[in-house]
Amino acid sequence: MIQHNDYSDLLRNNHKWAAEKLETDKSYFEELAKPQKPKFLFIGCSDSRIPLESITESEPGELFVHRNIANQINLTDINLLSIIEYAVEILNIEHIIVLGHYKCGGVKAAVEGLDEEDIVENWVSQISDLYHFHKKELESIGDKAKMYDKLSEMNVISQLKNLLRTPIIQRAFRNNKKLYFHGWIFDIYTGLINDLQLPLDEWKEYDLLPEDY
Ligand SMILES: [Zn+2]
Repeated sequence: MIQHNDYSDLLRNNHKWAAEKLETDKSYFEELAKPQKPKFLFIGCSDSRIPLESITESEPGELFVHRNIANQINLTDINLLSIIEYAVEILNIEHIIVLGHYKCGGVKAAVEGLDEEDIVENWVSQISDLYHFHKKELESIGDKAKMYDKLSEMNVISQLKNLLRTPIIQRAFRNNKKLYFHGWIFDIYTGLINDLQLPLDEWKEYDLLPEDY
């Protein structure tokens, strides 16, 4: 695995990258400077092992991104809410993807805690609630790593449910905007993304999705 130990490596690589882009397309940066038209909003974990552009082979301009520890959708997070509003109302993005991953440190911290790192524990407290709610099912898995991976999946579904609760999304439904939701898990053991089954009927029952969704 290549590791860049020095920040100057990053700057040098950036210059190399820009030169390579120009070599294949003289107007690459002229095009890039035009208004963005991304088709996907990604809400993912900050983990350094999940580089969204690399694992989806996306180019600059394709993904509109928000990341935080353990891909939380917190209804009081003004940063995230403004990103969702901008994505849906200004950029007219139709696909919103919540991307979790296996071996998520935030998910583990929600259950086991971190030594004196109260802020992180606070941030992931929703996952702690989720764990306690599904404790029986999760503990029946036996293997601890697998249990956390299952909790990561549950977390993605739970965060999508929070997303549907936001006034921005509910307003979009009232205005008959087309929106598609995706719950994905990056399987760090294989490099593959799993597309999770969403409980659409349950969400309709809670009036979080329109009947004809
Ligand atoms: Zn994570």
